Amino acid sequence: MGYQRRCTSLKKTMSAETHLDVLAVFSHPDDAELTIAGTLLKLKSLGYRTGVLDMTRGEMGTRGTPEIRAKESLEAARVLGLDARLNLEQPDGHISVTEDARRAMVRVLRARAPRVLFTSHWDDPHPDHAATSRIVREAARLATMRRYDEDAGISAIKMPAIAHAVYSRLTVPSFIVDVSEFAEGKMNAIRAYASQFYSAHSTEPATRISEQGFLREIEGRMRYYGSLIGVEAGEGFYVREALNVEDPFALLTRRMNIYS
Ligand SMILES: [Zn+2]
Repeated sequence: MGYQRRCTSLKKTMSAETHLDVLAVFSHPDDAELTIAGTLLKLKSLGYRTGVLDMTRGEMGTRGTPEIRAKESLEAARVLGLDARLNLEQPDGHISVTEDARRAMVRVLRARAPRVLFTSHWDDPHPDHAATSRIVREAARLATMRRYDEDAGISAIKMPAIAHAVYSRLTVPSFIVDVSEFAEGKMNAIRAYASQFYSAHSTEPATRISEQGFLREIEGRMRYYGSLIGVEAGEGFYVREALNVEDPFALLTRRMNIYS
């Protein structure tokens, strides 16, 4: 099955045009899994409607093909229990803040009306990741303006909140999500991308992420962020805006690590 048809059928099997509570927007199929799969699993278990929007089909990848990665992303979506897995079909390696990209993003945001967006950080060293973050920020704002892209006939939405996944040690997390119960599920979602990661039988060229140690590194990172709040596994997020706390006592009496 071709990629277009596969995506169309994916949209059908995952209820086309349903509203979502949470949408994770990352550049390449597998980025969302590597970064925030634990948080997506946790939100699903709490009853929220979750979705992932991949900006590209990952066609620049050294290993696998866009068709294989589309199939793998479907399998990962099943593991994560996603309500929607979408693809914006931007050019891999060439994502940039263009009017076309912003408009396409605004249309998805308006159709799905998520209240919370997860994406990469604008200071990410991968140009695609940095551009994705900027497109998300700009589109989230534009989606609230009634006159922007009015001809498409999709109503403006209230601006969703945006939380950026933390990778660099230079970015201090605004909060860390305890994903201890979902660490195993996260690794299973990542392993759905069999073409990308370590396999003893693979004859494909080796890359940094296909080395045996890479998945251990991902797991180590998740354990490290967990250690910062005194739990087994965590995922860190940065929010540019000030967080509005209802009950400071409840917040401050949760488990912490005084050595964090
Ligand atoms: Zn990526």
